[in-house]
Amino acid sequence: MNKKFSVPRGTADILPDDIASWQFIEATARNVLTVYGYKQIITPLFEETELFARSMGQTSDVVQKQMLTLQSQRQEGESAGLALRPEGTAAVVRSYIENSFDRKETLSKLFYIGPMFRGERPQKGRLRQFHQIGVEAIGPESASPYLDAEVIRLSVELLTQAGLQPADFKLKINTLGSNDDKTNFAKFLREHLQPARSGLCEDCQDRFERNVFRVLDCKNKSCQALVAKLDLNHAYLSADSRKYFADVCLALDSLGIKYEKSLTLVRGLDYYTHTVFEISSSALGSQDALGAGGRYNNLVSQLGGPAVDAIGFALGVERILLALVDHPKPASRPLKVFIVTLDEASLRRGFQILHILRRHHIAGDMSYRLSSMKSQMRQADKSGAEFVMIIGEEEYKKGAVTLKQMSSGKQQELKAAESERDCRALIELLCQETGSQT
Ligand code: AMP
Repeated sequence: MNKKFSVPRGTADILPDDIASWQFIEATARNVLTVYGYKQIITPLFEETELFARSMGQTSDVVQKQMLTLQSQRQEGESAGLALRPEGTAAVVRSYIENSFDRKETLSKLFYIGPMFRGERPQKGRLRQFHQIGVEAIGPESASPYLDAEVIRLSVELLTQAGLQPADFKLKINTLGSNDDKTNFAKFLREHLQPARSGLCEDCQDRFERNVFRVLDCKNKSCQALVAKLDLNHAYLSADSRKYFADVCLALDSLGIKYEKSLTLVRGLDYYTHTVFEISSSALGSQDALGAGGRYNNLVSQLGGPAVDAIGFALGVERILLALVDHPKPASRPLKVFIVTLDEASLRRGFQILHILRRHHIAGDMSYRLSSMKSQMRQADKSGAEFVMIIGEEEYKKGAVTLKQMSSGKQQELKAAESERDCRALIELLCQETGSQT
């Protein structure tokens, strides 16, 4: 027996029934992002593995455990092979540097929409191929608490415009401070976790050395209990960093954004500095993050670019759709007309009329094979078309069609045959309904 193939684990087909929801989220996002002054950038689906290792940090889970690499495709001059992109920031920064954006503008506001890949153990809401809507605002002008507030506001706006209510999600924010502040914070954490170190889970034993911040967002109960006992505060912050964070909060307040300050929110990647944030939904189960982001002031220079600041975030499209499950789905655009014909001659004419209508952007379809009137009407009904257009023997002789509105059952006869001119009245009537141009 021939093997039947299935979609790879941790990936999913997005089937036609779900497309309306996808397109709605994408179109809404594009609209909101444009209003906020962001321009789209499309980078390749894979990059040099080293780019991700250098930007996200060798100790991050993504780099250590989740990179999907393309081993056989290494080309001359590429240092360490290629990997499917696990996130968008590194590639956007690589492109920012490579294309000298800094010489063209003082703030580059960029967005991307597309698939990301992580070799994770699949579960609900955690896929190996998933999709993100992300933004990056990079450049010397980026160094402003107003931009932090705008970016956070934008992520909230994208979620609410997609259909979520403010009560459906929770926004948490924190600050890591500058690089020096982060060093102080790491020192504080090591000192205070050291006495209880043996109580940490196996992963956190390792994290303690390599990336102690990660202990703070470990999901293990015993680690969480130890973290809860830490007397966390912002003592590790310099006066400047403290003021910066206070200004971000003030700007958020001025925009009426509801947020919760969380001292344990650190994000797992090396590149974050200052503001970090995460948006979660209780409707999602254990993988509850809808999106996350933060400021990354050193990444551009670390990757060989100018010393400019930056901030960004990414939202997961599949997670947004999961959180929207109980909300009404957007309707897909229905067909305007379905053509039913009864013999070879009317089938030929119907086929030509269908293409004349499509030239006028009237969405139409037909039964391409002759079958009984009953079965074609059933097809018309199933297609969801607003009108059914019948070309029977009588109509054919007269150079006309019968147009029936499915919802009201009202019918009328209209002139229509093989030429544009013959179809004028039909086109006008259907375009009036669609609002498109004749
Ligand atoms: P991260 O870069 O890990 O902060 O991810 C940003 C957002 O992308 C998350 O908040 C999720 O909504 C989404 N996301 C990350 N990883 C996955 C995954 N494996 N499957 C589905 N969505 C994901």
